[in-house]
Amino acid sequence: MLTSLRFERGPQVIPAKFEYFAPTSVEEALGLLAEHGDDAKVLAGGQSLLPVLRMRLNAPEVVVDLGKIDALRGVREDGDAVVVGAMTRHADVATDPLIEQHALLVHQAVHHLADAQIRHRGTFGGALAHADPAGDLGAPALALGAEFVIQGSAGSRTVSADDFFVDLFETAIQEGELLTEIRIPKHTGWGAHYEKFVRVAHQWPIVAVAATVKAEGGTISEARIGLTNMGSTPLRATAVEQALTGQPATDEAVRNACAAAAEGTNPPSDLNGDADYRRHLATVLTRRAVLAAAGI
Ligand SMILES: Cc1cc2nc3c(=O)[nH]c(=O)nc-3n(C[C@H](O)[C@H](O)[C@H](O)COP(=O)(O)OP(=O)(O)OC[C@H]3O[C@@H](n4cnc5c(N)ncnc54)[C@H](O)[C@@H]3O)c2cc1C
Repeated sequence: MLTSLRFERGPQVIPAKFEYFAPTSVEEALGLLAEHGDDAKVLAGGQSLLPVLRMRLNAPEVVVDLGKIDALRGVREDGDAVVVGAMTRHADVATDPLIEQHALLVHQAVHHLADAQIRHRGTFGGALAHADPAGDLGAPALALGAEFVIQGSAGSRTVSADDFFVDLFETAIQEGELLTEIRIPKHTGWGAHYEKFVRVAHQWPIVAVAATVKAEGGTISEARIGLTNMGSTPLRATAVEQALTGQPATDEAVRNACAAAAEGTNPPSDLNGDADYRRHLATVLTRRAVLAAAGI
């Protein structure tokens, strides 16, 4: 069943007039997106979209609220993956036992994301679809090799994390499509640590590092590292990953390998710090994150 409301035009802190739909299935939502094309905008938890509408940085004629689509909510196991429905709230991801057991890095990062109020409204899929380079979920998704299931009226396709983040606030989701779920390969037994640098609690990260490490018999056999806010998209610290592989799990070996953390990055300069400062932070935070993930 569709619900439609009308919002009237008001002062600048009130969004421009739009028609509101709350479909109860993915098919209904896709039908609305197909009907209204680029006049329509998808609403998830509203924690990023509503400020944009209120400031009138965007003024869609139609808002399609996914909040009543139960099929998009929840965490489940599917073979070697943990699958998170796009509309699962951050607070539910943070307390989910499957996430803690098989995707410890996501468990840690989501606890660092904003404050409790926002974690109870914002959604896992909404944050990833928004693709803010300072968002806390992109780097863990990249480090864990997550896959994004995107559905359109012609069917669904799966996009790797490497291909999902295209540019600043831009993803592989095309007009008329929805992100429906995120599949995270299980990293059961891997150590993990999300190291986030902020000036005050609950802030967006100035820089953050997501590290997950497999250490066996005192040797690092594999490491996967994602960087937050070191470019227009989340980035993998591949030079560090390669340098760590096969190294002894010691402070000295990790310190040497992490010196390359800022290689290939293009961080922004803003009031929180310039690009050089961010490169320095990336090196320090990567070392801290890897040491903690490896239990050193
Ligand atoms: C004060 C404040 C502090 C915050 N601090 C942090 C922080 O420290 N770290 C952090 O990571 N985030 C932070 N956030 C953002 C938070 O994570 C939001 O939850 C997130 O950015 C957007 O998720 P949402 O569910 O609210 O999506 P919405 O705001 O509803 O949507 C965001 C965008 O994604 C699109 N979209 C949403 N869902 C889908 C879908 N399924 N398919 C296709 N497109 C979709 C929407 O059309 C919109 O363009 C903060 C937000 C606020 C207001």
